[in-house]
This record gives sequence, structure tokens and C-alpha cells, in this order.
Amino acid sequence: MTEQIKRMYINGEWVEAESGNTLEVKSPATGELIGVITYGDGRDTKKAIDAADAAFKEWGSATARERSKYLSELSALIHKNRNELAEIIAAELGKPIREAKGEVLGAADNFAWYAEEAKRVYGETVPSTFPNKRIHVMKQPVGVTAAITPWNFPINMAARKIAPALAAGCTVLLKPAEATPLTSVRVFELIEEAGFPKGVVNLVLGEPQKVGAEIMANKKVRKVTFTGSTAVGKLLMRQAADQMKRVSFELGGHAPFIVFEDADLDAAANGLFESKYRNAGQMCICTNRLYVHESVADEFAQKLVERTQKAVVGDGRNPETEIGPLVNQAGLDKVLDHIEDAKAKGAKVLTGGHRLTGGEYDQGFFCAPTILTDINPDMKIVSEETFGPVVPIITFKTEEEVIEAANASDFGLAAYMYSQNVSRCLRVPEKLEYGIVGVNDGSPTQTQAPFGGFKESGFGREGGKWGIEGFLETKFVSYGI
Ligand code: NAP
Repeated sequence: MTEQIKRMYINGEWVEAESGNTLEVKSPATGELIGVITYGDGRDTKKAIDAADAAFKEWGSATARERSKYLSELSALIHKNRNELAEIIAAELGKPIREAKGEVLGAADNFAWYAEEAKRVYGETVPSTFPNKRIHVMKQPVGVTAAITPWNFPINMAARKIAPALAAGCTVLLKPAEATPLTSVRVFELIEEAGFPKGVVNLVLGEPQKVGAEIMANKKVRKVTFTGSTAVGKLLMRQAADQMKRVSFELGGHAPFIVFEDADLDAAANGLFESKYRNAGQMCICTNRLYVHESVADEFAQKLVERTQKAVVGDGRNPETEIGPLVNQAGLDKVLDHIEDAKAKGAKVLTGGHRLTGGEYDQGFFCAPTILTDINPDMKIVSEETFGPVVPIITFKTEEEVIEAANASDFGLAAYMYSQNVSRCLRVPEKLEYGIVGVNDGSPTQTQAPFGGFKESGFGREGGKWGIEGFLETKFVSYGI
């Protein structure tokens, strides 16, 4: 796969960075070189912004049906190339191939959804106070949009931003994460095949600080949609203030997962497995704290340990793999640091608790799926996002107590609860300070549902009819008649 340097896509052309710099992309499972990309900076970013700005005039005033045709075509192309795209994700991220296929289908679904949503951007007429006036309210595209995405969902994070932005009539430049750029390059080959007019969608590969600085300083960029860490989100928000740039942020999470005494424990164990170990625990909606009622804690822990010890850990390209590697050395170091910190402060390890070594594991960033008990609030794992396959079990006595503990976080993205009591299933979600709540559901995401967080997990929503709102301005026209 190292045959050629993968280039950026700017103004309908495949181009190399002005600097001539390149960056290697390596497998996190084996360390092998799987691709080389051109590695740009602010100069390339400026070209992409200029291209998107020039294209906005026509794209922004095209009919919704015209825009919809391109989005439908792209959805079909992603679907047709789903296996190849999934293999690229598995290679550059280590994500299990089955999960990668699901992600690609999710991206195709997003383009299909927004191909339709483009046609449902309605205005309103509002009754006037005065007989000689009329009020019209219309929605218009914000303008040039920069989308900055993380590595953990290389295609779907981009799709959830690009699809609604284009549907709204915005033109776009995408800056993907440098750990997983090859998926984006393939998607842009499909964008080219779909025949989008030049400049409407652009791909910038390059140094994050330099690309980010140009995006934030350039007045032509009217909207920035970012998914990533809360730390970088805060930096971008500060930089956006000078120009009042529109921003939306999907940031970090620290999901509590609550198992009440009246839960179906087998269903809860399956839900926990999914919400914790998908993508090796590298999801913003991953469970980070498991709260189990004290009366069922031992039984539930036993079930989890049995299920966890059977999990197949390996290279995502192996079809048997259930849990892949961490994305890089820094990711692995952070997870091991959380485990060591917890152990030093009194946690007991029920299973795992270490890096996996020997054989194929020696070349990759593998952490044994880990379950810890005897957790106390001073441990990093109780307040910081771990982003890895580690479950700390915390016991509780009452509903009030666990709601308070679950809400005691600066994050507010996703929360989970398992119970068979209908009243409790209605009552508890209302009190959880989270943007997404899975009730007897360990995987609560769908294209048509709103996705986003409370508190420091960000603001704005992706998905469904809510996902297009952030790319639209509201204009009021007052007619004197
Ligand atoms: P990150 O370090 O914040 O990076 C996210 C993106 O921002 C990458 O493309 C990165 O580029 C870029 N970036 C880094 N510094 C920048 C700067 N100064 N200016 C402009 N762009 C900059 O996050 P990550 O480690 O890739 O992703 C993991 C985080 O994303 C976790 O906190 C996770 O919870 C969060 N996340 C949230 C959601 C959600 O929907 N709420 C979904 C997925 C992930 P490089 O990769 O080139 O450094």
C-alpha cells in the first residue's frame, strides 16, 4: 500500500503540500507502513478555503434537489465500495473489520439521509402585528465550513459533518486526523467520482496547529464543526471568538453505566461489553464508570469477567478479532497510566491490567481488557476519559446516590442504565445530565437521532433533522405592503 504518496483534494485537483513534506501512516497492530500522505500547512489550507469560497456562490444557491442528487450518488458509491473502505479503516486504525463495515454503512446512511433532509429546509410565514406588513422567515446556508475530525471513526465522523453541511448549501473543507487519513483519501476519490462541482468539497492533510490556525484566522470560514478532545475544542472556541465564527463541538465523554438491582444482568453484561469494548474502548460514548447495585455486584462482575476473558484481542483485519489495538503509543500509555494509578490507590484487578505482549502483540499497542474493583473517587479513571478497554466497577446502594455520582462529571455526552422497572426507566433518564441516554441499550446511536453532549462534552447536535440546523442561518424579511 506504499506505492504512492496520497494527496490532498483541493478545487477538484489532487495536489501535494506546498512544503513538500510527507507523513507515514502505520498499522497500530503490527507497526507496518501502510501508506504515506502529503503533509500540508496553512498555505494549502488557504487554497482550500479560497476554493470553497469561490464554489459557494453556485452551490449555496443551487436547488435542494440538485444538491440532493450528488449526496445520493455519494451514498451509493460508499455502499458499493464498503468492503474496501472497511479494510482501509481496519488497517490504519486496527478497528475490527465487522465494526468497520458497520461504520461505513453508517456513513452511507448519513449521506442518504441528508440527501432527503436537504429538501426539508423550510421557511415560515408569521402573522404580523400590523395589517400592512408581512413576516417571512427563511433558512440560508452559513457559508464555507471547516470540518475537523478525530481518528476513532475515520469515515462516519466526516460523513456526519460533510453530509448535512452540503445538504444545507455550505461548501466544505475537511481536515481528518493524521492517524487515519487514508480512509478520507478514498472517500474523496468517491467524491470526485460522484461529480461534485470543483471546490465544493476539499480535503486538507497537514499539521493540525497550522491548518487549524489558518481555518480560525481566515474570515472566509464562517462555520467550524469539530469532533475531538475537549482540550482542543476549548482552544478552537477561544480562537473563534474574535470573528464570532459559528462553531459546534462534539467533545470528550465519561459515560456512567448503571446496573440496578432489578436489571436483566445478562442483557446488561452484553450492553456493557458493547458500550465499553467497541473500538477497543476508544469511543466518546464509551462507558468509563460502571455503577452496580451492591446486591448484584458480585454476580454481575463474575459475568463480565467470564465474557471479557473470552474476548479475542488482535489485529482488526483478522475476522475473529473482537477488540483491536489502541491507536498509538500515547493512547496505550494513557490507558496503562489509568490502570497503574488505580492500582496504586487500592484498586483490585479482576482480569487484565497490563499491556499484552508476546507473539503478534509485541509489534502493536494492545492492552488486555481490564476489570477493576475497589474504586475510589481519587483515581484518575473516575474523572478522566480513559479511551481504552478498562472497566472500573463502583457499587451503590440507592437510586438517588447513583444519579448524583453519575452526574458528578464535567462531561455530559452519554449515559446508560439497565433496569426492568418501567417507572425507573422513565424517571432516571430525566435526571441524568447527559445528551444521550441508553435505557437497556448499550449502543444508542442512529442516523436519524440527535447526537451530542451537555456540559464540557460540547454543543450542537449531529444526526437527523437536528444535524442540519448548525449549517443554516435564519433570516427574517419584513415586507411593507
Ligand atoms: P484531538 O486530539 O482533539 O484531535 C481531533 C482533531 O483535531 C484531529 O483532526 C486533530 O489533528 C485536530 N487537531 C489537533 N490539534 C489541533 C489544533 N490545535 N487546531 C486544529 N485542529 C487540531 O482528538 P483525538 O485524539 O483525535 O480524538 C479523541 C477525542 O475525540 C476523545 O476525547 C473523544 O471523546 C472525542 N470524540 C468525541 C466524539 C463526539 O461525538 N462527542 C466523537 C468521537 C471522538 P491530528 O490528528 O492531526 O492531531
